[in-house]
Amino acid sequence: MIGSGILKGMAVTARNFVGSYFEKDRLITVQYPEERNPLPENYRNFPFLIYDGDDPHAGLRCVACKICEKECPPQCIYIVKSDDKKPDYMGKPQLYPKVFDIDISVCMSCQICVEVCPFEAIKMDKEFELSKRERFNHLLQRKEELSKSNDYYHKICPTDAAEVDAKLAEAAAKKKPAPAPSAPTPVSAAVS
Ligand code: SF4
Ligand code: SF4
Repeated sequence: MIGSGILKGMAVTARNFVGSYFEKDRLITVQYPEERNPLPENYRNFPFLIYDGDDPHAGLRCVACKICEKECPPQCIYIVKSDDKKPDYMGKPQLYPKVFDIDISVCMSCQICVEVCPFEAIKMDKEFELSKRERFNHLLQRKEELSKSNDYYHKICPTDAAEVDAKLAEAAAKKKPAPAPSAPTPVSAAVS
């Protein structure tokens, strides 16, 4: 029947309108920005870089291997390797990104950079209030802006962050050198 779709749609609207006075679940509108719905844990927006501890430079996990830069489909990551090295999260001297930019006007939030990173150094953020008046430079996020602490990652993605911490702790434990064998007891001391 012509118009049956419209009538069905109107019935759904009416049911939700009346129901919203009786069932809290049907009240889905919030007074944004004063009120905000919690975001689901698997919500993602643009990538950010993780650092351990309190120092964004010393704790930055990224070692500037450039895998994410090569794999990013729209090529919106730009990295320049450092000339010197700094200790990584296991104390091993590593290169770090002197420059790490992501152009979020181009990024399509595909998460490929996260999946290919061997160092758990880049993750997807949930920050979505990023609108700017200018289109170009202002949407280019620099290393300083991209670097966020592991505590922040725990706050936005507690399950994933705990899994990553456990994985890194296991890797660090495996790489620890085995304790040196104890020196044999001298024969004279053993017989006396
Ligand atoms: S999320 Fe996708 S498009 Fe965005 S920086 Fe990562 S790989 Fe590139
Ligand atoms: S974020 Fe990961 S993949 Fe990208 S350069 Fe840094 S360590 Fe390599």
